[in-house]
Amino acid sequence: MSEDPRSIVRRSTPPVSVSTPVVTPLQPSVVYASTDPDELDAQYEGRVRGFTYAREGHPNATVLAGKLAWLEGVDDSWGAGVVTGSGMGAIGAVLLGLLARGDHVVGGDQLYGRSHRLLSDDLRRLGFETTLADPTDAAGIEHAIRPDTKLILVETVSNPTLRVADIDGIAAVAARSGVSVVVDNTFTTPRALRPFEHGADIVVHSVTKMLAGHSDVTLGYAVANSTGTNAAIREAAVTWGFTPSPFDCWLAERGLHTFELRYDRAESTARQLADELAFLPGVEAILYPGRADHPDQARAMSLFGGRGGTMVGLRLDGGRDRANRFIRAASPIQFAPTLGDVSTLLSHPASSSHRGLTEAARSALGITEGFIRISVGLEDPDLLISELSRAVRA
Ligand SMILES: *Cc1c(COP(=O)(O)O)cnc(C)c1O
Repeated sequence: MSEDPRSIVRRSTPPVSVSTPVVTPLQPSVVYASTDPDELDAQYEGRVRGFTYAREGHPNATVLAGKLAWLEGVDDSWGAGVVTGSGMGAIGAVLLGLLARGDHVVGGDQLYGRSHRLLSDDLRRLGFETTLADPTDAAGIEHAIRPDTKLILVETVSNPTLRVADIDGIAAVAARSGVSVVVDNTFTTPRALRPFEHGADIVVHSVTKMLAGHSDVTLGYAVANSTGTNAAIREAAVTWGFTPSPFDCWLAERGLHTFELRYDRAESTARQLADELAFLPGVEAILYPGRADHPDQARAMSLFGGRGGTMVGLRLDGGRDRANRFIRAASPIQFAPTLGDVSTLLSHPASSSHRGLTEAARSALGITEGFIRISVGLEDPDLLISELSRAVRA
């Protein structure tokens, strides 16, 4: 019998090694042991660095945040931001960390479905007033700003019509009123746009999408351009329990190794695909920010440095029948409501992300029953284009 009071479970001795692993170790530990209360004091007071309890932070989240901060061009002096258990968790942490009673929020009027719901239902239920306005029109956003406005939340590119927000214009009107601009950079990613270079104060991501890239993790990220704001967002994430799992962070970090390659490949295919599909019979419109026929092409060119992104909107003539036929004919390209995966994915906004809107509201946005959103993946471009062209003709 052992006299060591620790059970077999904790009887672990790290292997002796003079060498170090090349890959970031996965550290699932929920709790971290300290030497004594003085050391714990030193840790809490920031004199030494360490971890205590995983909801407060853990090594895999710290490593991931550092990489995401680097991609977004975050200054070291601001802090690296916080990784959260989902993209909505990141947006939630920003709102819960920064809003106080009586604050008003301005949001884009074509936000991601859940963000739209957060602003139009949940925040109002909690007593915050919100106004939604068109983010392609900075004057309209300015008009929505009130003396009690605290934040403006916009997405760089709207889903699914891919309208491009006037980030520079919004940042300028917000700065005049002392309002913070929160940019959801999920669709564009730092490969096409670094919002801090255009006056954003806070950047949020659904890391679930292109950054992690393999549809096997749900994660978010929020970072601000000041230490104080970063601390407030982090506190909210920790208190409300938006902490990510170490394994998800590990997977996302692994995904980031190929992020730039994946982005560039998908974008180059998306551009070719948009140009090929545009001329097929039965195609009413192609929405791609890099094309001359896109309403915001000039802004896309200047904001994204010539990049057009990895998403293509395809409006087929005809109704639900036409969409059903196309999606069935396009299999094995999967019909699934996400984006940014290694595989090309089709989605049908009228029956998924925008099903909550009335038909009139949808058609005002150009989201017809024949509208298909294509998230372009990494398949062979020629094969993918011929497959989708065949499905359009079917
Ligand atoms: C998916 C998405 C979100 C939400 O992210 P989750 O990781 O699903 O919580 C927020 N904003 C945009 C633009 C998205 O595409």
